[in-house]
Amino acid sequence: VAMQPAEITLEVKRSNLRGLGGAGFPTGVKWGFLPKGHPGPIYLVINADEGEPGTFKDRYLLEKDPHSLIEGMIISAYAIGAHLAFIYIRGEYVQPWRIFAGAVEEASAAGFLGKNILGSGFDLDIVVHRGAGAYICGEETGLISSLEGKKGWPKLKPPFPAVRGAFGAPTIVNNVETICHVPHIIRRGAAWFAGLGTKTQGGTRMYSVSGHVARPGVYELPVSVSLRSLIYEHAGGIPGGRPLKAVVPGGSSAAILTADEIDVTMDVDGLKNAGTMAGSAGVIVMDETVSLPEALMVVARFYAHESCGQCTPCRESTGWIFKMAKRIVAGKGRKEDLDTILDVARRGAGTTICAFYDGAVGPYISYIEKFRAEFESLIPR
Ligand code: SF4
Repeated sequence: VAMQPAEITLEVKRSNLRGLGGAGFPTGVKWGFLPKGHPGPIYLVINADEGEPGTFKDRYLLEKDPHSLIEGMIISAYAIGAHLAFIYIRGEYVQPWRIFAGAVEEASAAGFLGKNILGSGFDLDIVVHRGAGAYICGEETGLISSLEGKKGWPKLKPPFPAVRGAFGAPTIVNNVETICHVPHIIRRGAAWFAGLGTKTQGGTRMYSVSGHVARPGVYELPVSVSLRSLIYEHAGGIPGGRPLKAVVPGGSSAAILTADEIDVTMDVDGLKNAGTMAGSAGVIVMDETVSLPEALMVVARFYAHESCGQCTPCRESTGWIFKMAKRIVAGKGRKEDLDTILDVARRGAGTTICAFYDGAVGPYISYIEKFRAEFESLIPR
């Protein structure tokens, strides 16, 4: 509270902190989109709807370090001028919700929330809201619709939430992990945080590593770490020394990488330059025993199930692609199926209300392009 709100925003901007929920947008820049001198309320919304397959880092923060998030929320709300903050926790996260809601009560009892926090004249309350289990509510406009008590349908942007968000008011939506970094940035300075990362992304992030590694788990590392080092040094490599086949580097919506493509840095731009994305940093490691057609079928089933159904390309193609992937795995694929999947995926990309379908297209295209022979071997001649 010794700092002015604008100074905090500037510090966060200088730190090169980027959104760690999936989109990777610079956090301080996002805060700067709020209309200046807005006369009505402004809201902070924390996105704890962690639903991206392969991602389980926010759960750890909610369960093991809830006060770090509360502290980040207080500082961030102060910076953006919000006096009410919401957290939207995915419905399946029962234990994280219980622990976090308990921590909010503790913080209120200790005088860190409520009216006139620590005599600063700044007021903040936190509302803990639970989702009901829809992946699409992790998309920020879908989350806002659900928070407002409506069906969790994404909306066309613009207007962006910073201009017109929850209950029609300017709203900043940030991911759990992103906001947990804020207290450290303010305490130790933007230069310290920026120096931990790469040129365009500061700090560390938490990588959820699952699949065929000796030590699956969550690893907090500088974003300049390479995918190879994450798999082979930190997560202990592949059990039995079996060869690596493929890796999903950023949650299921990220394009897959082959074993020859893992010498990349795990920051937003490093993975973008490698033709994939950092996304939610959910790293799924697959050794040579994995059938890529089966893996695609599982992913395709997920997207077909979770499409909210508003946009024709997403609603129709996700179901259609799942059907084709399923028959290929069953040995009943048709010769034209692979090209049809690629064609349908490419045509729909960029035509929908939200990024869900573009995310689904990442695996559809990359699995087939990079492992086509394996798919073809299952299709009767
Ligand atoms: Fe819904 Fe898919 Fe359209 Fe997103 S892209 S709004 S999930 S139908």
